[in-house]
Amino acid sequence: MRKKIVAGNWKMNMNLAEGLKFAESVSRYFNNKPAAKAEVILCTPFIHLGGVSAILENSKVASGAQNCASEESGAYTGEVSAGMIKSTGAKYVIIGHSERRSYYHEDDAILNRKTSMALKSGLKVIFCCGEVKEERETGKHFEVVKRQLGNGLFLHSGKEMAEVVIAYEPVWAIGTGLTATPDQAQEMHKFIRQLVSEKYGKEIAEDMTILYGGSCKPSNAAEIFSKPDVDGGLIGGASLKLDDFTAIVEAV
Ligand code: PEP
Repeated sequence: MRKKIVAGNWKMNMNLAEGLKFAESVSRYFNNKPAAKAEVILCTPFIHLGGVSAILENSKVASGAQNCASEESGAYTGEVSAGMIKSTGAKYVIIGHSERRSYYHEDDAILNRKTSMALKSGLKVIFCCGEVKEERETGKHFEVVKRQLGNGLFLHSGKEMAEVVIAYEPVWAIGTGLTATPDQAQEMHKFIRQLVSEKYGKEIAEDMTILYGGSCKPSNAAEIFSKPDVDGGLIGGASLKLDDFTAIVEAV
């Protein structure tokens, strides 16, 4: 059965005390509710992850990181390995976010390695893909997403794909206030599911959770999530406000 997910990406926001307090509020909110229709995940900065994972232990909310190292261990100053992330109790890691691709020059080959490290360590991967504005305007968006998935993700086995969630995030919609229309999101999600099907077969494709990300907010979430191939969202800005984030989860 395909799982619905809403994952918050805190990016580089909130100090440690603020982050822990916020995680407590999110945990309290969902623990006091009957089972949510979606799995809820908080993807925090590394500094917060141990504390947030401890707060979320035995709660209805899972924790995750926003990146991991492409190497297993050793002399890589400043890096945090997938194994270290796993040891905090976190379940997920975001790989290939457009901010990592553009500001830190992470290419398909690096992202493929990071995905391998994460899966090997027992983490689930939220693998991001999506085109920039110019690529959409010149009609290259399908080609770009196909390349990103083909080179960064599809080198993994069908068994490993059961531990992967794909997030389609058109870069022109991230943090800009511009959102893909529900039809644009559906069209790309259907295309992605077709690519998964061609590579891994229909069953794996039907089970694959595909999230939409890009200026998702309480006012547009329900319409986007109503599309048959949209299985929830990866939420940036709106995941930093309890009311907005919980309203988006309720919209699933
Ligand atoms: C994101 O960073 O993954 C994202 C979707 O951001 P925002 O919701 O702020 O556009």
